[in-house]
Parts: sequence; structure tokens; C-alpha cells
Amino acid sequence: MPRTVPLTNHSGVGPGTFTVIAGPCAVESREQLALTARAVAAAGASVLRGGAFKPRTSPHSFQGLGREGLSLLAEASREVGLPVVTEVLDPRDVEVVCGHAAMLQIGARNMQNFPLLREVGQTRHPVLLKRGPAATLDELLAAADYILGEGNPDVVLCERGVRSFDPSTRYLLDLAAVPALRERTDLPIVVDPSHGTGRRSLVAPMARAALAAGADGVILEVHPRPEQALSDGPQALRPMDFARLMKELQALAPIVGREISASLSRLGTASEAPCTEDARAI
Ligand code: PEP
Ligand code: MN
Repeated sequence: MPRTVPLTNHSGVGPGTFTVIAGPCAVESREQLALTARAVAAAGASVLRGGAFKPRTSPHSFQGLGREGLSLLAEASREVGLPVVTEVLDPRDVEVVCGHAAMLQIGARNMQNFPLLREVGQTRHPVLLKRGPAATLDELLAAADYILGEGNPDVVLCERGVRSFDPSTRYLLDLAAVPALRERTDLPIVVDPSHGTGRRSLVAPMARAALAAGADGVILEVHPRPEQALSDGPQALRPMDFARLMKELQALAPIVGREISASLSRLGTASEAPCTEDARAI
């Protein structure tokens, strides 16, 4: 029986609902994050994403704003009333990230960073565990076991595409992973069509397909000015594209027995602070 991973006292990722997580790839500035957060909240997202610590292929690329980015996420979270998920790259940062975000992301490159998995397993924060670009489903499930084994039951699996021979898309989004994982685990499963395709025009169709395939949610990159983005601009939806996609998902969800999770702001708790340590008490 699939289970629900709680995000706050009012919301969680799991059966019957469809959780839309949205926001920029990286937190770049207060203005960029605030514009994005307001747009995704207004369109009906239920979780805000944004990277403060960025895993970049090249050390010369923008590495994220670090702790300043975490503070900006906490501020945006309070303003729009959405819980935040953000990536933690280093076991030494787990504590500070827990203080600013409701959910911890383990990025694809760190899926087999065993000390990091154990560290997040020792927290009470839900964890979004992304599939490594060359990882089998067995390996993804074994990585989840590292977290579960430390006593943290709140793991959400994320299919985000695997490396293939075809440069037509950034990665090969494996949507069959959704029902295949469903046969083997009760953990919720979300899909990342942004990294999975790398191309803005493919994101909405694959998000709709993820819902139809039985995913419990999607994680989407949105940027107010994708052409100026410091990372992953080509795959970022514009706020207008995102709003259109939300309407499509809202129309499709009841057909597959789900409801798009309501945002906390719609539940009238926008004035509270869902991003911080007491996030789970809301
Ligand atoms: C991200 O979510 O911005 C990210 C870096 O994802 P992944 O780890 O899947 O590449
Ligand atoms: Mn990204």
C-alpha cells in the first residue's frame, strides 16, 4: 500500500494527491526568487524548490549562493506560504539546511554518497532522493535503504532521467520507472521532467505523462527570465507556461484519481513559517 510522506501537518506526498514542486534551478537573487515564488504559488504549486548549494559539472560555473540562498528561500517560503525543498551537498551542511527548509534534496550525483545518505537519515526531515544518471532501480532503492535504515521513514523517490546515447534530450526520462518502482516499494515517487528532458518544450508533455503514469508529483524548474538564468535556463518554464501546465494537470488529475495538492497559502496559513525547524508543526 503506497504511503504518504508528510511535508507539513496539512500536506504530504502520496496517494490520492499530486504534488507540484516548482521554482528556479538556483536561487540567484532576492528578486528572482521572490518573482518565481509568487508566480508558482499563485498558479497553485504546493512546494517551492530552489538550489542554494549547486552541484555543477564545472568548478568554474555558478555554485549557488550557499547560506545566503538558504536565507532567501526561508524568506520566500514565509512570504508565499509554501514549504521549501533544497539540495544538500555536504554532510556538514545538513543541520543548517534543516533549519531553513522543510525537505532535503539529495541530488542525482549524490545518490550513492553514503555518508550523506546516512546523515540525512538521522534527521526528521523528509528527503527527496533523486535517481543517479546511471543508477538502476535496484541501486536507487538501496540508496533509499541507507536513509530508512538510520530511522528516517520519510523518503520520496525521484525519477529524473538517465544517461543515454541520444543527445536529442539532456537525459532519457524513464517513465516506466514509475510503475516499476510502484511494484517494489511503498515510497512515493515523483518525476523531474525538467532535468529529464533539458528542453522547455518537452517539460509540460512529460509532466502530464508522469501524472498519467501514476507519479505522486512532479518537480519543475521555473524562471522569470530563462534566457538570463545562471543555470538550466533552456529547461526552465516561464511563469506563463507553468500556469498553463497547472491548469492542464488540474483537468487531468481527477481522471486518474488524484487531486492537485492545495498550497498552504490556500489553506490560509501563509503568515506562518513553513520553511523552518517548526515547519512540520504547521
Ligand atoms: C536540481 O534539481 O537542480 C538538480 C541539480 O538535479 P539533479 O541532481 O537531478 O541533476
Ligand atoms: Mn537544475
